[in-house]
Amino acid sequence: MGKKLIKLNALLTAAALGIGVCYTLPNYVMAGKGFVWITETGAVSFKSECEDLIIDGAEVATKVYNDEYPGYTGEGFVWVTNSGTMSVKVDAPKTGMYRLVSRCLMYLGNEGEIREAGVSVERSDGSTWSKTVKIPHTNSWNDFSFGDIKLTKGENTVTFGGGWGYCLYDSMTLTETDAPDYSKATAELNDPNATPEAKSLMGYLKSVYGSHIISGQQEIYGGGNDGNSELEFDYIKDTTGKLPAIRGFDFMNYNPLYGWEDGTTERAIDWTKNKNGIVTASWHINVPINFENYVLGEPVDWKECSYKNYQASNSTFNTANVLVEGTKEYDYFQAAIEDLAEQLLILQENNVPIIFRPLHEAQGNEGNYGDGTSWFWWGDRGAEVFKELWKMLYTTLTEKYNLHNLIWEFNSYNYSNSPTWYPGDEYVDLVAYDKYNVDNGRDDGLTSGPNESAISAIYNYLVELTDGRKMVAMSENDTIPNIENLTVENAGWLYFCPWYGEHLMSERYQNADTLNEIYNSEYCITLDELPSDWLSAYVNGSSVTTTTMETTITIPVTTLENTTNVSTDTSTLTTKQTNTETTPASTSESIATTTETTWMTTTTTSTSPSTTLPLRVKLGDLNLDDGVSVVDMVYLNKYMVNIIKFNDQQKCNADCYSDGVIDSSDASALMQFLAQQIDSFPVGS
Ligand code: CA
Repeated sequence: MGKKLIKLNALLTAAALGIGVCYTLPNYVMAGKGFVWITETGAVSFKSECEDLIIDGAEVATKVYNDEYPGYTGEGFVWVTNSGTMSVKVDAPKTGMYRLVSRCLMYLGNEGEIREAGVSVERSDGSTWSKTVKIPHTNSWNDFSFGDIKLTKGENTVTFGGGWGYCLYDSMTLTETDAPDYSKATAELNDPNATPEAKSLMGYLKSVYGSHIISGQQEIYGGGNDGNSELEFDYIKDTTGKLPAIRGFDFMNYNPLYGWEDGTTERAIDWTKNKNGIVTASWHINVPINFENYVLGEPVDWKECSYKNYQASNSTFNTANVLVEGTKEYDYFQAAIEDLAEQLLILQENNVPIIFRPLHEAQGNEGNYGDGTSWFWWGDRGAEVFKELWKMLYTTLTEKYNLHNLIWEFNSYNYSNSPTWYPGDEYVDLVAYDKYNVDNGRDDGLTSGPNESAISAIYNYLVELTDGRKMVAMSENDTIPNIENLTVENAGWLYFCPWYGEHLMSERYQNADTLNEIYNSEYCITLDELPSDWLSAYVNGSSVTTTTMETTITIPVTTLENTTNVSTDTSTLTTKQTNTETTPASTSESIATTTETTWMTTTTTSTSPSTTLPLRVKLGDLNLDDGVSVVDMVYLNKYMVNIIKFNDQQKCNADCYSDGVIDSSDASALMQFLAQQIDSFPVGS
């Protein structure tokens, strides 16, 4: 089958124009081609029937063999077999993230089965990107999200389908993705008896969440690097001139089997008390592999221990028994907690709070073992045992050992069943993810070298895991995401923390230039940039003023002559067009048309001062870029729902209906203008 090439048409339908208030979703009637519209939040959205896209290697159908699939919209659906694809050319109004959703039906397979499909993009700047998604089998039409895709301003070609999908695609939308609402994340700790230092640390974290990323670095433990625990930190200092604000530790060496002092606790105290840095810690707690014959309290060589799951280590340690009082597993775990608590208490006595990340990566390995469990023993009996284990650790450390210097950080994944592993809001203060995507699961379109993606799709997943109630951190990583990806993708990770060794110091995982760039950026907080009083000044975390990452389009301010004389009272502002000639909108092949209008001289009358001043007003140009496009519609919608404010110039330009007030009449006039229903703005009463 040949290519079916149908261009998306940018016209807004007449049906869209009859609405009174344009920021509610218009009741579109599909006219057979694509549409651009404005969502409730002011985002630009592109919508099309899949049968109207550029189709390659697939066919438009209304049934598959003799099977009917009723409920499709438009003239049918695209039946993708083998490697067929659908493409759409999108004129993105700005560089940013756009979510691709397709109404589709994976008709092959059975309940619970998945098929792979691909999505790729050729951006206006020449860069490319692709990834594989997994579409679950369904019996009816469903909205499936391909995730968030970065587009650059201008024409991008987005192609989806393919892989081994054998899927039916009905329609698609591509919608500008808003930044998460960082303000929803709590600054409160669950522990009502949290120490002032722990509260202040949490308050400080909240104060920078969404507007900055805090630098972190894991140290090696147990005498690695020939005992040089500063190796990674010296490397960072040499490369960037800076040091990380957070230092990662691990309490692995304090255990009932072979435990020995490797200086972890002492270095943690030194990091906070003498260096003014923040401490985070994980806990690779080992168990004896031959647990059946293990006698509690006896030493075991570290080679005879493991933190791996029983399937990999052949350990006879039954994790489920940890929850059962009277079992040897229970007694062993209690002894291990005692060793850990001893160290944590030393930190508490020294007023050192800890971002504590025990039992991490519990769902690791995506359920690739027989019973769907992880690579660490604490996850190897499934989600229910894990969650009880987490709660037991939480309760024991908090209530039995009176440890209140802990900020409890839960390590999650982004699998479809990851929510079933979440211990619950009342046991979790922070959510975190460990990013390792250089060797597997790349999403940056490259095949080797550092992967500087900000993995915003995963970030968004983790935000949504708690409906934004918990801050989300990158608790371990290989490549640190670069600044552009972090900010363009609205991936507001609280901090990053590369694992030790080659993850930081080899070209395979980290570009030294990128490391230098992020450590010396405004966006990244380094050790020297931590407030000197972060241990005490943010105790009332919730009252700390927070800032959020810049998410809206930057509005260039046009300097006007006599701007001080322009009335800012829109209720008395009247504009009259003396020149209503406009250049007819060009017939664009792309979705977001940009039409050029001429500057119009208008007369503005205001009551105070009661003088008449000539003012150059360009109706409809709300982002002040000299053009009128769908982006201006976005601005107007955002203004009308109080998401952004207008300056005086923008207020003048917004009165498209020329009746002295900014309301739905202006939105309607602007929509008609963009749809080329009118070629000049009307004059209201
Ligand atoms: Ca359709």
